[in-house]
Amino acid sequence: MKKLVILGGGESGVGAAILGKQQGFDVFVSDKGSIKDHYKAELKKYNIAFEEKQHTREHLFKADLIIKSPGIPDKVAVVKELREVNKPIISEIEFAARYTDAFIIAITGSNGKTTTTTMTYEILKEAGFNVGVGGNIGDSFAKQVAIGKKRDYYVLEVSSFQLDDIVKFKPNIAIITNVTPDHLDRYDYDFGRYTASKFRITMNQTKNDSLIFCKDDKTSEDWIKAKKINAAIHSFTAKTIETKRGAYAKNGWMYFNEKAITSIKELSLKGEHNLYNAMASGLAAHLAGVKSEVIRKVLSKVNAIEHRMEFVANVKGIEFINDTKATNVDSVWYALDAMTKPIVWVVGGQDKGNDYSSLMDLVKEKVKAIVCLGADNRKIREVFGEMIPVFEETNTADKAVNVAFNLASEGDVVLLSPACTSFDLFDNYAQRGVLFKEAIKELAKTLPTVEDFGNS
Ligand code: ADP
Repeated sequence: MKKLVILGGGESGVGAAILGKQQGFDVFVSDKGSIKDHYKAELKKYNIAFEEKQHTREHLFKADLIIKSPGIPDKVAVVKELREVNKPIISEIEFAARYTDAFIIAITGSNGKTTTTTMTYEILKEAGFNVGVGGNIGDSFAKQVAIGKKRDYYVLEVSSFQLDDIVKFKPNIAIITNVTPDHLDRYDYDFGRYTASKFRITMNQTKNDSLIFCKDDKTSEDWIKAKKINAAIHSFTAKTIETKRGAYAKNGWMYFNEKAITSIKELSLKGEHNLYNAMASGLAAHLAGVKSEVIRKVLSKVNAIEHRMEFVANVKGIEFINDTKATNVDSVWYALDAMTKPIVWVVGGQDKGNDYSSLMDLVKEKVKAIVCLGADNRKIREVFGEMIPVFEETNTADKAVNVAFNLASEGDVVLLSPACTSFDLFDNYAQRGVLFKEAIKELAKTLPTVEDFGNS
């Protein structure tokens, strides 16, 4: 029996373990940290051996195949040691794809992956396709292949870490939403390496497959011009009119290959970044054979996803927006750009080597006050402190909300769009968003309502 070792007992690791077991491997899961109780229960249910808070070398070095969870960096000692002895290390998507013959639409990029994945999935579902969605949303791809309903299509959100460890993974349609600096700490601060990692999504594609990319993204455009790509290339652009193959905007309409698909004002998700996401997902659905009417209908009703430019509440005329998922500079650019009111900007967290220069003009134009939400805010103060004199530091979501509220006036917007990860103060970005929203609800409760004023 072949021995499969899985490093990391999270969503993708446990999914891969279940699939491995089902495919007849002798499976062992090893996690340096602790494994969440519900994952432990799942491993026990499937009779899968595991260890936590350690990596026992004798187990690991007996492996015939290793699946590494995307959260584990290559520089970790055990990974280096396993590579030194040439153990094959693959990612969960590589593994899962070996056991399905479904049509795969895979989506990567620095920003917009979850939104574009959700939109694509919703369109295919509405069109009546037998489709599953995986990646950051719901169950892992591997788990769905193992124990989910048998699918004809999968729409997968794929990170660069997942792509780093593919060998044969070959999506029928690949989307690269954009490539802007993010996670550079995992790529030795080398943007070229990070870009190469994203483009691995197309490396096994043939001329019968499609690659969709953003023509307005210079990094992607330059890469496509310079490298040999086997897939049929389709682009989307909001800035130029590309009439041959792809999506573009003209006179307030979104076009695919010279055909008007929908008016832009009908799109339910606003902002230029969401126009890009709509173009990318619509184009993928179009290539998969979905009718324009269905694409138009879904794009006009798809809901905002939690934690992405999510409207939370209007408290005394001050709007609160939760964009906690904006964990890099480029996503914040789109958030600031989309705002039409003066902004009290809640920013900060754990820095990933951010270069804030692209935000300067927008911050100068739109931001009236900065509220830091981070353990160490020195860099943000250095960059923006002089430009924006109203500058406060906080270290809980509750304080950030209250300080921001006091700095804002009626007609302003308080925007949590942090440009940083959350691990200095929170478990993850979602917890930061949830606590931010709860603090807003609490704040609203403590304020006298208009009626209260009337009664006093
Ligand atoms: P990802 O899954 O790649 O992190 P999300 O769809 O979760 O992307 O969005 C993450 C953040 O990026 C959100 O704050 C959102 O407002 C912003 N965003 C979404 N789509 C784009 C895009 N196409 N370009 C730039 N920023 C985007």
